[in-house]
This record gives sequence, C-alpha cells and structure tokens, in this order.
Amino acid sequence: ENRRKESVEQMIEDVIVLLQPQAKLKNIDLVVQQPIHGEIYCDRSQIKQVLINLVKNAIEAMHTVGKITLSVNCNHESVDVSIADEGNGIPDDILHKLGEPFFTTKQSGTGLGLLISKQILDSHNATLKIKQNKIKGSTFQLVFSK
Ligand code: ADP
Ligand code: MG
Repeated sequence: ENRRKESVEQMIEDVIVLLQPQAKLKNIDLVVQQPIHGEIYCDRSQIKQVLINLVKNAIEAMHTVGKITLSVNCNHESVDVSIADEGNGIPDDILHKLGEPFFTTKQSGTGLGLLISKQILDSHNATLKIKQNKIKGSTFQLVFSK
C-alpha cells in the first residue's frame, strides 16, 4: 500500500501506452476524451490494475472495428472515470453475476478481473457502476467519492 494524490490523466496515459498494441491488433481505437483533469488519493499501481482489467475486458468484448472511450468527470461529490466500449454488451441475465469469483463467459477467462477490481475499489471507498450503452456496448464507471 502506497497511497498519495495521483493524477488521473497520468494513470490513464500509462494504461493506454500499455494496451495500445493489443487494441491496434483488433483495429480498436483507444480514445481519451479531453479534458481529463482530476486527482485521486490512491495506490497508483492498484488503480492502474483496475483500469487495465476494464480496458482489457472492453477490448475482448469487441469483435469488429470500433472505439473505446475513456473519460473523466469531476463534480462536487466524486471523480468518475468511465470506460465505454462498442462491444457486445452484457445480457441482462448475467449482469448480476459479473464480479462473482470465477464467473466468465470466455473460453480461457479466469473470471477474476472484475472481482479483483471491485475489491481494490472497495478498499479505496470507490464503486463500480455498470451500464448498457444506448446504441452499442457497455460502460464501466469508477466512482471515487470525495
Ligand atoms: P474474464 O475477463 O476472465 O472473463 P472478468 O471478471 O474480467 O473475467 O469478467 C467477467 C465477465 O464479465 C466476462 O467473462 C464477460 O462475460 C463480462 N464482461 C466484462 N466486461 C465486459 C464488457 N466490457 N462487455 C461485455 N461483457 C463484459
Ligand atoms: Mg477480464
């Protein structure tokens, strides 16, 4: 554990650099919506791990060309980080199972990514919101209360 004030922008940048090659292979654009100001009191490597898990899931959910949009919204109550994909979306009947240990719909998935992410967020007093997008795919939103 090593918590301090960290720039959201820097953490997102790091994650993009790391996952860009994997996205490129599938013709997926990782788009960062500007501005991405905001600071979070957190363990940098843990929150980066959460972002990596979510962006990887987003990449894996997409089977054709498209984009994944990362955005940050700061308000009085919270700093929100969103990852929106244009993938398959999440069928209603499995929505409640996401984050259960070993729950996966992938042939070689571990079903641990969301569980670990939720545990990390819990320990940071943050939550994970999962929404279906209107047109296509889903959005995973990290909410860090101030
Ligand atoms: P894994 O990636 O190993 O399957 P996760 O805990 O990361 O484990 O995800 C669990 C399940 O949640 C996935 O198998 C998938 O069914 C669903 N899921 C996660 N992220 C997305 C997403 N962005 N779009 C659609 N389904 C998703
Ligand atoms: Mg995963």
